[in-house]
Amino acid sequence: MDISLVGSINIDLVYRVPYVVKNGETLHSASHSVHFGGKGANQAVTASQLGANVHFIGKVGADDFGGQAINNLKEKGVYTDSVQKEGATGQAIIQVTDAGDNAIVLFPGANFLVTPEQIEQEADIISSSNALLLQLEVPLEAVEKAVEIAAEHGQMVILNPAPSQKLPDSLLKNVTFLTPNETELAQLTGIETTSEENIRAACSLLLDKGVGTVVVTLGSKGSFYMNREESGWVQALSVNTIDTTGAGDAFNGALAVGLCSGDSLRSAIEFATKVAAYVVTQMGAQPLIPHSYLE
Ligand code: ADP
Repeated sequence: MDISLVGSINIDLVYRVPYVVKNGETLHSASHSVHFGGKGANQAVTASQLGANVHFIGKVGADDFGGQAINNLKEKGVYTDSVQKEGATGQAIIQVTDAGDNAIVLFPGANFLVTPEQIEQEADIISSSNALLLQLEVPLEAVEKAVEIAAEHGQMVILNPAPSQKLPDSLLKNVTFLTPNETELAQLTGIETTSEENIRAACSLLLDKGVGTVVVTLGSKGSFYMNREESGWVQALSVNTIDTTGAGDAFNGALAVGLCSGDSLRSAIEFATKVAAYVVTQMGAQPLIPHSYLE
C-alpha cells in the first residue's frame, strides 16, 4: 500500500518552566527535551508503522535539524527522496508549566517554502499512490496543487484541515475524506459545533460543497462521521491519558491505512480510534506502537 503525503516536518524544543515567561523577563528552564514533530511527520510515522509505504513530499532546512529530521523519518520507514532541503527547519519552541499550561512559538521555516512547482515534480508519486494524505502546515497553493493532481487521477484524498483555516470550494470538491476536529469544523463552516444537530448541519454544508465524507474528531468524546449514505458515532476508548499531543495525527495516519486496506468506513475509524487511544497513553506524538496492541 502506497500513501503520498504532502506535509510539515518540525523539530519541537520543549522547555519545562514554572510559569510562561513574561514580557522582558529571563526565566530559567529546569529541563529541556527535543522531539520530532510537525503534523505531516507525525502522520507519516504512524502510517508507516502500520505497514504503509509512505512517500513524504515536503521540505526541511539545509541545517543540522533538517538532517536529523530526515534520519528520523528514514529510521521509521518513511521514504524521504521527495523531501528537499532549503532555508531553516521548522521549529516549535514550547514552554510547558507544571500546571499543564503551555505557550508555543512556531517558526514554519522550510515548510513554508514548499511550492506548487515542487509538488508538480512529484506528480508521478502522487498519481501512482493509493491515497494522498495532507494537512495545512504547508502553503495552501501547494496543498491545492497536490489535491488537483490526485483528483485528475481519481485518487483518494484525505485532508486533515489543521491548523484551522477557511478553504476554497474548488479544493473541498476534490476531498474524499475531510477530518476536522470540532474547532476546525466550526471555523470551516461558521457553525458552532456545540450540539449533534449543529455538527450534522456543519457536515451537511461540507457535503454540499462536494466533500465525500466528513470525519469529525472530538477528543475523548470520540468521532462522528457523515456522508450521503451513512452517519454515526465512534466512541473513544477509555484509557489512562498521559499526553494528548498528536492524537489527531495518529488518528489520521491510521485512518489512511485503514481506508487504503479496503476496510469499511466504520472499521477504518474504529482502527484509527484504537491507534489514537494508544498514542494518548504515551509521551510525545510519535511513540512506537507495539504490534501486539494491534492484534
Ligand atoms: P486533535 O488532536 O486533532 O484535536 P482530537 O483531540 O479530536 O484531535 O483526537 C483525535 C482522536 O483521538 C479522537 O477522535 C479520539 O478517538 C482519540 N482521542 C483523543 N483524546 C483522547 C483521550 N483522552 N482518550 C482516548 N482517545 C482520545
